Amino acid sequence: MRISKIAFRLGLFAALAAACALGQTKELTASEQSYREARRVLDAGLAAYGGLDALRAIENFTIRHEGHTVHRHQSRRTDAPYERTPLSGTLIVDARRGRLYHDNKGSYPGGFNWHWGLMTNGKDAARVTFLERRINSTQAIPPQALRGRLRWLPHNLLISAHERSVQLHSLGRANFDKRPHDVLTYATEEGVQLTLYLDARTHLVSKFELLTGDPYFGDSVQEIIFPGHRAVGQFQVPTARVTRLMGEVVEEIPFVEVAFNKTYGDEQFKAPAGFAAPATAAAPVENPPSNKLAENVYLIRGGGYNVLAVGFKDHVMVVETPGGDSTSREVIARVKELMPGKPIKYAAVTHHHDDHAGGVRTYIAEGATIITTPGLRSFFERVAAARNFTFNPDTLTRSPRPLSLETLRNGKRVFTDGAQTIELYDIGSGPHMDEMIVAYLPQEKIVFQGDLLNRPEDGRVAPGNATTAHFADWLKKSGLAVERIVGVHGPVSTLDDLHKSVALMRAQN
Ligand SMILES: [Zn+2]
Repeated sequence: MRISKIAFRLGLFAALAAACALGQTKELTASEQSYREARRVLDAGLAAYGGLDALRAIENFTIRHEGHTVHRHQSRRTDAPYERTPLSGTLIVDARRGRLYHDNKGSYPGGFNWHWGLMTNGKDAARVTFLERRINSTQAIPPQALRGRLRWLPHNLLISAHERSVQLHSLGRANFDKRPHDVLTYATEEGVQLTLYLDARTHLVSKFELLTGDPYFGDSVQEIIFPGHRAVGQFQVPTARVTRLMGEVVEEIPFVEVAFNKTYGDEQFKAPAGFAAPATAAAPVENPPSNKLAENVYLIRGGGYNVLAVGFKDHVMVVETPGGDSTSREVIARVKELMPGKPIKYAAVTHHHDDHAGGVRTYIAEGATIITTPGLRSFFERVAAARNFTFNPDTLTRSPRPLSLETLRNGKRVFTDGAQTIELYDIGSGPHMDEMIVAYLPQEKIVFQGDLLNRPEDGRVAPGNATTAHFADWLKKSGLAVERIVGVHGPVSTLDDLHKSVALMRAQN
């Protein structure tokens, strides 16, 4: 009895010893290995930036930036080199108190100058336009707006990855900028998968990447590059922030100043004194899903844009294909409700900018013939041929169809079935584009245009720009009888609104 008990205990010990030995030699699973490697790289990165405790103790940071926007999908040209315009501003992030200030000043080619600011003291918020000294909105700034700006300093990416360690994985080594990098990936608070490249020698972040989609060409990677670092006190900070989309630079912003823990009063995070209050509920802006301009003539709202739809006896013509696939699907569904049984035979685009033609592929899938200017033919041929839409397959990917495309000859084309007429004109080279289509309905005395008169959504007449003035000159020379000017952006306008807009611009200069 006693012997058997000892033997039993010995057996138990042997089994335990064997189990321990097994535990020691047990191989790590792939996810454990990946996590451990990522953790090693992350810890080295945090140390290189100044150490986790010191980084966490930072109360606020300020970045003054001065650089350029590079206008991919927004230039006169469809291909690089694109136009560059200055871009400058100041960013103050005080995440601990939920305080944020960002002002940004830049332009689009053709005189579209803007200077916006957003600010919140953690309680009140404002979005302002400095040029017009107006508060546009006092709606709360969403938390992701603050988190996105925290990522302007890479150490905040590492802190975020540290807080979400369970999501952390190594993607091994990769070369970037001809140097070896350790690559990690984690999911952000917003659930976005973010990939970080840390220089294998310095352990500083050279860039991060997000997978995204381009409405014209499909699967795309967005890279935010930190091309160099310098010391500010005990911390390492980037010298600039460069954004690339599909390998093309779209923004280059050198940091002229990076500072930590400046003293700011609450005033810094409020709208400047004397700025006009936002439009009140007394004058609500109505944006119905469609607006009947005349018999068989509709302005259809989709994705925040306006699309013109004109019904002929046995088909429909649409002018402008803005946004992307989902906007186009929404607009096409509305066209079918309003004018049932009539196929969309033509879709004309004013110009190739992505806020005007980003949804063109859906109309190709719908069987519409795309109408454009001769200079944009090859661009739309490439867009129609793009096949790499695996992240988010669009309608043309799911229902492929060959491109049917026609261009204006000698700057004009008339579409008519005897009852309904629409004339398309290329207004020629202006400040915004080399070629630009406007649509004219002679019976209804309506002009439909993109970017030539952009009135604010709140219904005011704001000062125009060089592009507006060029359009007003063209319209005068054209001799067309016009009563209403309808735009892709903004409310329906009169000829008088156009003249006022140009006069306000001239009074400013
Ligand atoms: Zn444009």
